[in-house]
Amino acid sequence: MARALEQNKQDELDKLREEVLACTACQLHKTRTNVVFGEGSPDAKLMFIGEAPGYWEDQQGRPFVGSAGKVLDKLLASIGLSRSEVYIANVLKCRPPKNREPRPEEIKACTPFLDRQMAIIRPKMICTLGNYSTSYVLGKFGIKASSMSSVHGRVYRCSSLLLGEVLVIPTYHPATVLYKPYMMDTIKKDWEVIESVYKSL
Ligand code: SF4
Repeated sequence: MARALEQNKQDELDKLREEVLACTACQLHKTRTNVVFGEGSPDAKLMFIGEAPGYWEDQQGRPFVGSAGKVLDKLLASIGLSRSEVYIANVLKCRPPKNREPRPEEIKACTPFLDRQMAIIRPKMICTLGNYSTSYVLGKFGIKASSMSSVHGRVYRCSSLLLGEVLVIPTYHPATVLYKPYMMDTIKKDWEVIESVYKSL
């Protein structure tokens, strides 16, 4: 039964992926090399949502495979998880040129895909990585994130018809430590919260 459900979710994700690969809904389709749909377990209890693909993600069509991805892998390992046990996606599926920040019209065009990914996977816990995913996900539940410093490491109990009950934990984007190494201690503390909540599911 559980296996059939997982296969069903995988089939739905595969169908959605085909749709996203063909998407031209915003200008980013003109400059992308590959669409970065997302990857991981279709039945993951924990879903990570980042901002947008960077250079290496665009080259390989996979999320978090550059320097920030190495930080994410280390953080995952520090709480005893691997990529295959979680699901990793981004707010935008195509790389903004020169890694500029996502624009409102791009977020508006792309997030229906993220919504559908979340609705298929129905994670029990969502960890948002950075400003954009935090604002977007908390905003869906009517919570305003005024700054990362005020919301990181907190556990938000949210619910909606589409997602059911879900715990949202915002933290900083792993790329933060690449230019602010001193943030690693803060991020590790957030990940201790993530670990303890995950183990309590
Ligand atoms: Fe489509 Fe999203 Fe890519 Fe824009 S970023 S072209 S909306 S898949």
